[in-house]
Amino acid sequence: MAKATSKKTKNAKKEATDQSHIEARALTPQTGAALFEDARSRLEEVFQALDTPHDARSRLMQPAASLQVSVPVRMDDGSLQAFPAWRVQYDISLGPAKGGVRFHPDVNQHEVTTLSFWMAVKCAVVGLPFGGGKGGVQVDPKQLSSLERERLARGYIRAIADIMGPDRDIPAPDMNTDAEVMGWMIDEYENIKRVRAPAAITGKPIPLGGSQGRVEATGHGALTVLDLWAEQENRKPEETTVAVQGFGNAAYHFARQAAERGYKVVAVSDSSGGIYKEEGLDIDAAKKAKQKHGELAKCRQGKRIKGDELLALEVDVLALAAMENQVTGDNVGDVAAGMVLEIANGPVTSDADAALEKRGIDVLPDVLANTGGVIVSYFEWLQNRAGQAWSEEDVNQRLDEKLEREARQVLERARDEKITYRQAAYRQGIERITEALLARGNCQDCR
Ligand code: GLU
Repeated sequence: MAKATSKKTKNAKKEATDQSHIEARALTPQTGAALFEDARSRLEEVFQALDTPHDARSRLMQPAASLQVSVPVRMDDGSLQAFPAWRVQYDISLGPAKGGVRFHPDVNQHEVTTLSFWMAVKCAVVGLPFGGGKGGVQVDPKQLSSLERERLARGYIRAIADIMGPDRDIPAPDMNTDAEVMGWMIDEYENIKRVRAPAAITGKPIPLGGSQGRVEATGHGALTVLDLWAEQENRKPEETTVAVQGFGNAAYHFARQAAERGYKVVAVSDSSGGIYKEEGLDIDAAKKAKQKHGELAKCRQGKRIKGDELLALEVDVLALAAMENQVTGDNVGDVAAGMVLEIANGPVTSDADAALEKRGIDVLPDVLANTGGVIVSYFEWLQNRAGQAWSEEDVNQRLDEKLEREARQVLERARDEKITYRQAAYRQGIERITEALLARGNCQDCR
């Protein structure tokens, strides 16, 4: 049964106004560098386990291509501001680079590189014909007007237009970017190229070739993976308590659909703090309150709790859906959940991951649990190329089929090889990338 530890609950009201808990662990360039080092050491472990040939190892230890640009934006007050931005294509052995673009004040080259690496792994884990890419602009989007955001989105596309395209690199939404931003981006791209090329960007508005079900897809996919795990554990949704860190797009859709399926979603949080209700929250009411007041802390449902308290709840499932570096060596001891579901990219650092493994707490890793978004992006790309528009039912059915098949393989591999789910997922992904890389021959770039 879920419960907040009593000392912590007592302080909840006082601490709910403290907004520093997520920001405190946000990325600086230094932690960004550590993030990539972390990713590389995980990769080295996989190479060792798979006995990966040297050629593939040396290719995969660094990104294939990395572009840094400065995006000048004319602000509403007439001044000009230039924002640093990146697009990284980590590996393109399996297909064109694929991955979102984030707007965030802490974006830096190391972070974007790491995120592009994770995209390469996740596309391979679920068998998509894509490599991994990622983009980011170092900006606080909350400080921009809507027109300034539009100018920034268009400026970013002008800066990277030469290296993107349906067969080269396909951007999509990520943190603080959504269908509206993708609409501006595809319009800019098509204007530059003087063609209609909807498959150049996914996550678009429906009238511009967006796919049904794309907005809900990451949450939907995470629930599909949770269901498989629950089935394996012989556990019914009604007997399973879930706390969700985050209340952005993926978190909200996951929480809503999980509650609909019967899971007891007892807590959600955003950067203002969280709310907790032992009998399960009304997710749509929480969403409405957030829309009205701008933050969850002002939602009157349940008890207010601090972000750190959410991480320490005694729940069956802790779903991390905010951002990277949330469970670290410093706070992993507080985690009291039975299982951790990674819906954000990289929410658990590798030292924390090792500590969870020691304590027997399973982690369903990001490179499997959050693939719903990119799988439906692939479906969007397919629809655009075929000039088709599938129904939402069709999209969701294909998503479930694909994800269930690939996720079952990962879960079975973990059981058979007695390894963690993360190790199993990485092995599945890196094996596929390596096969493609080696199939391209011995002399790939000796032109
Ligand atoms: N940004 C999402 C992710 O990290 C989706 C990427 C995509 O659809 O290309 O998986």
